[in-house]
Amino acid sequence: MKIIRIPVLSDNYIFLLHDINNNEVAVVDPAEAKPVLAEIEKCGGNLVAIFNTHHHFDHVGGNKELLEHYPNAVVYGGEKDKGRIPRQQVFLKEGDTVDFAGRKANIYFVPGHTYAHIAYYFPPTEDSDWGELFCGDTLFAGGCGRLFEGTPTDMVNSLTKFRNLPDSTRVWCAHEYTLSNLKFAITVDGDNPDLQKRYEQVKIDRTQNIATVPSSIEIEKLTNPFLRWDNPKIKQAMGFEEATRVFGRLRGMKDNF
Ligand code: ZN
Ligand code: FE
Repeated sequence: MKIIRIPVLSDNYIFLLHDINNNEVAVVDPAEAKPVLAEIEKCGGNLVAIFNTHHHFDHVGGNKELLEHYPNAVVYGGEKDKGRIPRQQVFLKEGDTVDFAGRKANIYFVPGHTYAHIAYYFPPTEDSDWGELFCGDTLFAGGCGRLFEGTPTDMVNSLTKFRNLPDSTRVWCAHEYTLSNLKFAITVDGDNPDLQKRYEQVKIDRTQNIATVPSSIEIEKLTNPFLRWDNPKIKQAMGFEEATRVFGRLRGMKDNF
């Protein structure tokens, strides 16, 4: 399974999954159709699946137009997004699996950013040491999604699922927010040498317009304050002990940053 990253709108990423063996293609969170159609044409594949993480327009905006070109493509999304994702056909919940490219993705129910948000996780295979996580707007490189329809408790539970994945998991998040996320992170966890190093590197990368996605679970656990609610320094900086309070304070600070 080859993964192609397509930058669209101001800071979104669409991911094209290409099964080279039978030339099938799936797309994760098509904000728009045109750039996806162009990329499918380049690889000469056939679109068989649209994997949506949640209903926001910058994740499903291309669904209808893609189906006009590939009417047999199947549209997947969370069961609680029923009625919110255009042309949704499959309604997924925690523990479900979906098949693509001879691999099985596990579905995680990860509310917080929205109440229906799901993530797709492809575990490693014999051919690949890496797991692949498509987490939409739940976890970002160096940050996490805003709580539009959920509570800190929801989000801590959701992010705990990601934190428990193997270190060698690629994090394919849906926005290029890394630099501004790390700018905030450094204000709450400035003594963290891994974070300092990452921040310097990302500053350089972004001046050269280099994408910072995918990240990895290993890097996120070391440097993303929104996965570090049980770190003593973060707890002290937030003035709370309990995970959801630490997290809630962090999220509130970032919202006003
Ligand atoms: Zn969103
Ligand atoms: Fe988004």
